[in-house]
Formats: sequence, structure tokens, C-alpha cells
Amino acid sequence: MDYLPLFHNLKGRRVVVVGGGEIALRKVRLVQEASALITIIAKDFCVDLLAMAASDEAAGCNGLELITASYEHRLLLQYPDTVLVIAATNYRALNRTVSEHAQAANILSNVVDDPGFSTVIFPSIVDRSPIQVAISSGGDAPVLVRLLRTRFESLLPAGMAKLGALAGRFRERVKDKFSNGADRKAFWEEVFYGAVAEQAYANNLEEAERLLVDKLEHSDRFETGEVYLVGGGPGDPDLLTFKALRLMQQADIVLYDRLVSPQVLNLVRRDATRIYVGKTAGDHPVTQDNINQKLVDYALEGNRVVRLKGGDPFIFGRGGEEIETLAEHGIPFQVVPGITAASGCASYAGIPLTHRDHAQSVRFITGHMRGGKRDLNWPELVLPNQTLVFYMGLSGLETICQGLITHGLDETTPAALIEKGTTEAQQVLVGDLSSLPDIVRQAGPKAPTLIIVGHVVSLQSKLSWFNNPANRIEGTINKNNES
Ligand code: SAH
Repeated sequence: MDYLPLFHNLKGRRVVVVGGGEIALRKVRLVQEASALITIIAKDFCVDLLAMAASDEAAGCNGLELITASYEHRLLLQYPDTVLVIAATNYRALNRTVSEHAQAANILSNVVDDPGFSTVIFPSIVDRSPIQVAISSGGDAPVLVRLLRTRFESLLPAGMAKLGALAGRFRERVKDKFSNGADRKAFWEEVFYGAVAEQAYANNLEEAERLLVDKLEHSDRFETGEVYLVGGGPGDPDLLTFKALRLMQQADIVLYDRLVSPQVLNLVRRDATRIYVGKTAGDHPVTQDNINQKLVDYALEGNRVVRLKGGDPFIFGRGGEEIETLAEHGIPFQVVPGITAASGCASYAGIPLTHRDHAQSVRFITGHMRGGKRDLNWPELVLPNQTLVFYMGLSGLETICQGLITHGLDETTPAALIEKGTTEAQQVLVGDLSSLPDIVRQAGPKAPTLIIVGHVVSLQSKLSWFNNPANRIEGTINKNNES
């Protein structure tokens, strides 16, 4: 190990920075966050440093002092209380001299971009104070460090800072209650993986604290689980949200339906029990009431239950009905939005849902037949300058296209059907209201499919970017096609 990572308490301690430009500014911001007393020596200062010094003075902090001078050894000697020197000028030789002076006085020194002349180096930081992750390659691979930092940024929920602070406040009380280290560890693990953490991440701090106190006072009492209604997106696992992934990876039980892609399902915690509650067309193996009841039962047994749905749970997903039942039983739940099929399919097919020249609004419509009848509000659907997106419309495609024409849309209005959007098997069938039913009949796509109607579809041939172009099947070239 070339460097030992330590976390330096700089509160009220002096840091001398030599240099007044952008590089110095970045370091000054960092040490200022750590509440250091900062002295900057430079011939001149960038505007941001001047502004920082002015606002520090206005606030009466006396934490930031600017010395306008060329660096000389005697200037450093004037500050015998210095614990860290940062050399951040544009001059390598000068930086090294500063570092030598610091080291001669046994002061920690950092030379920006010159680790060989530094006794300490700055790591890349993911800050969820009091939780911090510091990453370093010892100066060997800064770009790799930056990539890693991005990963950690996405891994650590923004609310982790609040959870960390809450844990800090209860540390002593928990210690008093559990003298045995193993019990204490088990307690904290439950806190950090369970409802307390989730409430803190959701910014419900009072509820998080109430649950923590409750858990502490009744640590032997049986706990109710929680249900997370999670949107799994249209298929491509990269379209999951960070929150969806985190909850999927800590679930005890996952109830999923047909639209959840195998790649998404694969990201569920390995030990979790997976239960299929999907419906296939015309066949309802698990009724909605039954699913609602299962969610309640599993949660009452103390499980963390993920109800994983395709797309977004609140768009044609019956998400509302499922959480209503949970609410009636007083079971804590959260809803995690997902990318709905309309957004996912449109993006991956190259069809902007709105466009200044073509459509100022977009409608999401269910094409599902209720009792064999499609009671759509045709006059509204044929209004100009809008895009129509039909979910569950494959079996009714012909009726939909015919209905739109009958009620006034031109039969040359561009229309597309997207099969298995955002997945490797995505196919885009393009035509117009009169031709699309035939094109679809010939291609014989399988569910799930989405229908988009409107002039924005004419942009598809130009804007398509995903998957092999061979997957695009075009019917008649309609008059509105721009390319
Ligand atoms: N809650 C889901 C929609 C559920 S309704 C969402 O927000 O996306 C089911 C319908 O969604 C399907 O019949 C189909 O029209 C559409 N759909 C879902 N995923 C799709 C996909 N990958 N490609 C095409 N259509 C999809």
C-alpha cells in the first residue's frame, strides 16, 4: 500500500494554499467544506476566490484570508499553526519549493497534479456526510477513479446523509440497550436495510426516527414488512431507476408480471423468492384481488415485498388499486416510477412524442376492449396536432385505425407499431392509418406492442438509432414522410 487513507479533521485548523487560480479554487472549496481556517497566498486571485473571501468576511467567519504577495518561505513561517499546505500555482518548480518548505517543517503537503512531491493526495470523494467514500489510485489512473466515483454516486442514495446523521444521534442509546456487539450489529443491519432507511431516503425523517425509536423500545416485537411498487420499465434493464434497482436488490419476495423482461428480473436479489402473477390474454391465472391479498399477507409476515411491474406502475398498471388495499391494511409502501412504454418505445424507435412542427400534445390511450366494446372518445382523438399512443391495442388495431379515419383523421396519417420496444427483439412497423393493419397482419408481431399515431411518426426514418435497421419494416411510403 503506497498511501494510507485517513480522514483529516480540519475543523478550525489552518490550511495554507499557494496559488489564486481555478486549481486553487477547487481545493479551497474542499477544505472550506471541512471548516478549515484558510490562508491563500497569491499574486492575484480569480473572481470566485475574491467572492468567497468577500462573503466569508460579510458573514463574519474569518475563515478565509487572502495574502496578495509572491510566495516566499518567510510567509509560510508566519503561520506556525499550519497543518496542511497545498501548492496550486501554475508553476511546477514553485509548487515543489513550497512543498519542500512544508515538509521541512513536518507539515503535510499536497502539490496539485504532482503526487511525487506530495506527502498527501486528495482522493475523489462521494460525500453523503457523515458517510463519505474516498477513492484514490495513488495518482496512477485518475480517469478510472472518476468512473468509479460515478458508480458510487449512483449506488449511494442521496438520503444516505440523513440516515447517517440519524444513526449518529442514536449511537449511544443503541450501545446502552445492546451491550453485546453481535446484537448491536443485527439491530443496525435491520435499520439500514429496512423501513427506517427507506423512510430516511424518502425524506420522511420524522417517520424514520419514530420507527427507529419504536424498534429500539420494542426490539423483541415482530415487525410488519413493507411493499415497494416498482416500475421495471419497458424491457431494457439500463432503463431502471437507481431506486428500483436498490429495492430489487434487498427484496425478500418479488411478485412480477408478464411484462417484466427476463433481463430486469435477473437483477432481483439472488435469494429472493420470485412469484409470477402475470396474466396472459384472456387467461387470468391470478386475479387482481388475489394479488392484492398476497401483497398484504407477505408484508404482514414481515417481508420486504417488491411488486415489480412493466413500465410505470401508475400508467395502465393497476398500481393504484394495489396500494389502496395496502393502505387499508396500514402496510407501509412506496411507489417507484418506471419508464412507461410510450416513452421507452418512442425514444428507442426514434419517434419524438411531441415536436414543435407536428404535435403539441400527446395522449396515452388504452386500446383494450371492455366487454368486447371499444368505447373511445373519437372526437377528441381526431383533434389536430396531437400524438396518440395506444397501449394494449394489437388485437384492436384495425378497429382503431378505421375509427380514426371514420371520425375525421386523414388515412395518410403516419402510424407505427412497435413490438417489444427497447429490447433486442424490438421491431418497428411503419405505415399510415390505411396501411398499418395490413403491414402488421403480414409481419405477425407478438405482444407487447405499442401503437403510435400522428405526424411525429414521419420523423422515424430519420431519427431511428437503436438496433439493426433491418428490424424496421416499412409499408407504403406516405405523403407526409419527410425523408
Ligand atoms: N404499466 C405499463 C403498461 C401496462 S399495459 C407501462 O407503463 O408501460 C400493457 C401494455 O403496455 C402492452 O399491451 C403494450 O401496449 C405496452 N407495452 C409495455 N411494454 C412494452 C414494450 N416493451 N414494447 C411495446 N409495448 C409495450
